[in-house]
Amino acid sequence: MSWLGVKGADRAADALRESWRLGRFPHALLFAGPEGVGKKTLARGLAQAILCEARPALSLVACGLCPSCVQVIGESHPDLMEVKRPEDKQELPVQVVRELCDWFGLKPMRGPGKVAIVDDADDLTTEASNAFLKTLEEPPPGAVLVLISTSIEVLLPTILSRCQVVRFDPLPLAVVAELLLERGLAGGLGEATRLAALGEGSASRSILLADPEFARFRRGLIDQLGGEHGFAPPELAARTLAFLRQAGKEAVEQRRRGVLVAGELARFFRGVLETGLGLEPPCPLPEDAPPRDALALELEPEDAIALVERCLRVEYELERRLYLPLVVESFMHDVGVVLNRGREIVLTAVAE
Ligand SMILES: [Zn+2]
Repeated sequence: MSWLGVKGADRAADALRESWRLGRFPHALLFAGPEGVGKKTLARGLAQAILCEARPALSLVACGLCPSCVQVIGESHPDLMEVKRPEDKQELPVQVVRELCDWFGLKPMRGPGKVAIVDDADDLTTEASNAFLKTLEEPPPGAVLVLISTSIEVLLPTILSRCQVVRFDPLPLAVVAELLLERGLAGGLGEATRLAALGEGSASRSILLADPEFARFRRGLIDQLGGEHGFAPPELAARTLAFLRQAGKEAVEQRRRGVLVAGELARFFRGVLETGLGLEPPCPLPEDAPPRDALALELEPEDAIALVERCLRVEYELERRLYLPLVVESFMHDVGVVLNRGREIVLTAVAE
């Protein structure tokens, strides 16, 4: 089922529709759930539906044609504001929140209400969170504020207690597979299903994983780390860095690719740990099984745990915008300490 342009977010959609129908729609919502499951799409769809000037009062479905809908689609609606953390900042600055609250306090330009969407709400500073409190406590009539968060545990309790939390689940794999096929990103249902399983219910993750260049790099990296020969950490770091830089000129694109690589390695080493413990880990790509099984025989469980943790630290460091070359070099160094033990190191040519 698709509602407000989002497929698969059924639990969230049901909760919103029900409170609208009962006339108890909250003024502050917190959309919480993993990356890539439709939170932002649903927030925008909801904004359009609320601001639509031609929908029946009890229904929360935008007409798509009225002047208000046209402005929302064209990102020029005067009563809709969307803010997020600036690209070059680690946090959502208080200034952005103050501007948003001032804007919220002004009368709507078009209709009876206003909607604001705050992406990256996890990155609100304490000062910025506090700047929100008055608006959250006494929202102007007709105002709806949607905060978007991937890890609500980092939000201040004062913010949490003033919002209605709408939880988003990982998307059903069939929904992600269908989306990949619709966009021509998978050759057939089998490939689409494998990519959906790799993405673990995140559409954005599956889309990134569908990139053939990424698949090639991932294969080479896992085969090298799990192979019988050791590797030279500086050389593998240089190769990885070159691959991350191919993602685009912008640091944000390079980091996003880095997070994806680290996530894939974390999954691989988790598989090594589970195999070593005699469990049967899920393995969407059959090619991962031989290097995984070989490492499982060789490594102690604590080594595998250390490797998983090291990968997760890279994700954290990249999200905190640490200097990319440093993150990659120190990661390869640490991984090399574990994986190169007792192995002969073989240098391979650096691929550009
Ligand atoms: Zn409309």
